[in-house]
Amino acid sequence: MIIVMKQGASEGQVAEVVQRVEATGFRPFINPGVERKVIALLGEVNIDKVQLLDAFATMDGVERVQLISEPYKLASRHTHPDPLKITLGLQPDARPVTIGGQSLTVMAGPCSVESEAQIIGIAQAVSAAGAGLLRGGAFKPRSSPHSFQGLGLEGLKYLAAARAATGLPVVTEVLDAHDLEIVCRYADVLQIGARNMQNFALLRYVGETRHPVLLKRGPGSKVADFLLAAEYILAGGNHQVMLCERGIITFEDSTRYTTDINAVPVLKRQTHLPVVIDPSHATGDAEYVPAVALAGIAAGADGLIVEVHQDPAHALSDGKQSLKPERFSTLMDQLRRLAPVVDRTLESAAPGQAGVESAGRVPVTA
Ligand code: PEP
Ligand code: MN
Repeated sequence: MIIVMKQGASEGQVAEVVQRVEATGFRPFINPGVERKVIALLGEVNIDKVQLLDAFATMDGVERVQLISEPYKLASRHTHPDPLKITLGLQPDARPVTIGGQSLTVMAGPCSVESEAQIIGIAQAVSAAGAGLLRGGAFKPRSSPHSFQGLGLEGLKYLAAARAATGLPVVTEVLDAHDLEIVCRYADVLQIGARNMQNFALLRYVGETRHPVLLKRGPGSKVADFLLAAEYILAGGNHQVMLCERGIITFEDSTRYTTDINAVPVLKRQTHLPVVIDPSHATGDAEYVPAVALAGIAAGADGLIVEVHQDPAHALSDGKQSLKPERFSTLMDQLRRLAPVVDRTLESAAPGQAGVESAGRVPVTA
């Protein structure tokens, strides 16, 4: 159930509703950042909901009360009717960019951070092409324990050096709750990988931080489970969650996974959280990445996360699906042409400049 307060309802009226919710045994959750306060009732209480609905509907300052059938209350668009906009770039030397609403935001970089020179070089290349954020894994989830596991703390330090050199905010994966504090110290955005989508303990810990989160969909998870995973983070009080479609397992084996393009409009309808497409992991092949990237944006995604490497043949992970910087730059040009068609503005850092005060909105060249 959600209680939608009237626009301009007083603090006292909101407090009275909250008190009454608490008295029923539910946990009230006030959604911040919306003009009209919306109070969600969380928890399981054995009570006649229809009677309760009437009781709340007659309280001062209440506009309407609505029963929500979805199990994800906080991720539901009912609770937060407007699309969420998130500012990414909380570290002091990051140049913040927005995701959500009209904005189209691109995160790009290598699968793994391999060396300081590698990550700074790629950061400069993707920044020059107009990317808004730098991606790069320092803690890597690999199918084999014998594969490269990432540089760990050293990798985080190299990411920070790349941010200092370009101003690009950094998105990097946190694999384990033990590393959360150290990853938060260096990252602007915490990535939760596909394999950890239902690591509920990790989701709870990340929910306690105030770092924006990029939550990747588990390849075997339904949209409803994806939204429930986001709900864990939101329930901790961390409202800044982005959802990333990165391909699901189907019978098709001509690509690494199958991009669930349908999930984009489905998610946009069900939730206010920004949706990001990862065409790199979804296809597993650089040849298909640009087409699927553009398809994702045409379907309504708010952003992309794309793997880029100067020398894909020698990449320590995911080289086959990594674009060379030149191809990435062409993709950005294509996105600039697509953006106005889908009523979007491409958010990007001004090329090659570090420490610039605000995010540049690169003029659309249609
Ligand atoms: C990655 O982003 O490099 C990654 C491992 O992604 P996923 O968790 O989607 O497989
Ligand atoms: Mn990868």
